[in-house]
Amino acid sequence: MSEGVKAAGEPALLVEDLWVEYPARRGVVKAVRGVSFELRRGETLALIGESGSGKTTLGLALVRLLPKAARIKQGRIMYYRNGSSQDVLALNAEELRRFRWQECAMVFQGAQNALNPVLRIEAQFLDTARAHGMANANAVRERTIELLKMVQLDPQRVMHSFPHELSGGMRQRVLIALGLLLQPQVIILDEPTTALDILTQRSVIEVLRRLRTQLDFSLIFISHDLSLAAELADRVATVYAGAIVEIGSVYDIFERPRHPYTLALTRSVPTVTGEMHPLASIPGSPPDLINPPLGCAFHPRCPYATDQCRSQEPRLERVGDDQLAACWHWQEVKP
Ligand code: SF4
Repeated sequence: MSEGVKAAGEPALLVEDLWVEYPARRGVVKAVRGVSFELRRGETLALIGESGSGKTTLGLALVRLLPKAARIKQGRIMYYRNGSSQDVLALNAEELRRFRWQECAMVFQGAQNALNPVLRIEAQFLDTARAHGMANANAVRERTIELLKMVQLDPQRVMHSFPHELSGGMRQRVLIALGLLLQPQVIILDEPTTALDILTQRSVIEVLRRLRTQLDFSLIFISHDLSLAAELADRVATVYAGAIVEIGSVYDIFERPRHPYTLALTRSVPTVTGEMHPLASIPGSPPDLINPPLGCAFHPRCPYATDQCRSQEPRLERVGDDQLAACWHWQEVKP
């Protein structure tokens, strides 16, 4: 766990009752359903959950990079810096452009696609800087060298390379450095290590940990890989069917989860510490977000489900000092 979390109650981002929908042939996909959370200043918050749970859509909504067809049906996203606040959903096009790199940067999965294949790395840094009013090319070059060193790359080699001349892990680190170019306060990393082999994953995570201690930013780490989330995060939010169903410190989420879905997720990965337990897969499949189940969306897969679960949707409630869960029967959930 990093040591970067400052006082609670000092958010970098505050999200309230956020709903995102988009049309599909069969109906309206409710991709994000009533999500509320705060990203504390200096912390790493991991969003975990199965594929298709709405994690990426939520990340895209935070920087308003949703596909055209999607719409934010309701909710509020507030961004705070130096005592002032911005309503992200009310930003105009110019304010939004500035917000996306200078305040809140998103680094996407699949580094090969996110970089321009016909531009050398140095040119991509210069272009990004120029587009945001940093006209001094020498200063940008110096900053680029500094950032590439921070992500453990050799600037002399990397700056003059095209993306295809770099390995997947190197490209991912270039993207992280590019995301940091304009010194944003919030970074959103969407599955940054998915396409990488296990050793490269480790080195990217190591780089992120080091950056967190060197630079002052808050991080949202979107991943389906619980072990990486456990290593990097201060707090973890479990996302199921477009909603946050549990949020708490990394210790609480892994040692005493109160939501059956979180418990099932943690049981589905091997542990190298603590007691041995048989690995268990989660029965059934993720719900259809066009017609999510009535009541608690997890009830068709939940061993604790009762009639109440099948008819009433639980809301997040406090289940520990710094832990919230949305489950009617959280007191019965035993790790
Ligand atoms: Fe399971 Fe009911 Fe809790 Fe939903 S509310 S997770 S169905 S026990």
